[in-house]
Amino acid sequence: MSRLAHRPCPSCGDTLQVHVLPAQYGGTVEIDFCFACHGIWFDQMENLKLAPEAIATVFKEMHRHHGEPRTPLASRMNCPECRSRLVQGFDIVRSGRYITHRCAERHGRFSSFSSFMIEKGFVRQLTKPEIADIAKKVGSIHCSACGAPVDLRKEDACSHCRTALSLLDPQAVEKALQAYAPAPARPTPPSWGSPEDIANAVLAVEKERCRVQREAPRPRMTVQQAGALGVDLLSVGLVMLSSLWDD
Ligand SMILES: [Zn+2]
Ligand SMILES: [Zn+2]
Ligand SMILES: [Zn+2]
Repeated sequence: MSRLAHRPCPSCGDTLQVHVLPAQYGGTVEIDFCFACHGIWFDQMENLKLAPEAIATVFKEMHRHHGEPRTPLASRMNCPECRSRLVQGFDIVRSGRYITHRCAERHGRFSSFSSFMIEKGFVRQLTKPEIADIAKKVGSIHCSACGAPVDLRKEDACSHCRTALSLLDPQAVEKALQAYAPAPARPTPPSWGSPEDIANAVLAVEKERCRVQREAPRPRMTVQQAGALGVDLLSVGLVMLSSLWDD
């Protein structure tokens, strides 16, 4: 029943990992992940068919892999089906603007994890005063969409891809998870509303990541690879809210 196995990631060319997830009105949907690129390939319309519990699985998978080195997206990406060049565009929803990469032959599209979260309404954008406050403790952060560094003292969005700085919204995530698995015993998500909380969370995740890297030194990396290892706000959110999906 599975369609073609071993399809290549549109960006890095490694084999996409297929996950079979429940669909909204019964049946299943196959979703392809590339954890190195923080990306998901959706065949035409698959994204809309995902059942709420499938969305929770996507979150769990993103969280499980959040600490792994990230490969910056290639400037040219190819459709895993027909190999034609994916067309970059934008979509706008209530929680922000996100980048899309679609196949012109309508085979599907490639979404970064952050685009997926914006699209599904799981994030809120930081306000300028919040960014200014966070910048007092944290100088720069990496863009959740493209991995480029963002200087919080000078910018309130990524100067490379123009994606706004967004945070996971604990209430929205909790609501989505409740929709499929009402769990009265689940711990209340930690509140991290204040800029101070956010800055502290970023520093904690950064510290943990440095510790892991020291203990398991990786082979030599290019400057670009090393840059892509930086902490981004959505991975920080995944760590902060991990009590919601660690079972
Ligand atoms: Zn990839
Ligand atoms: Zn195609
Ligand atoms: Zn960016």
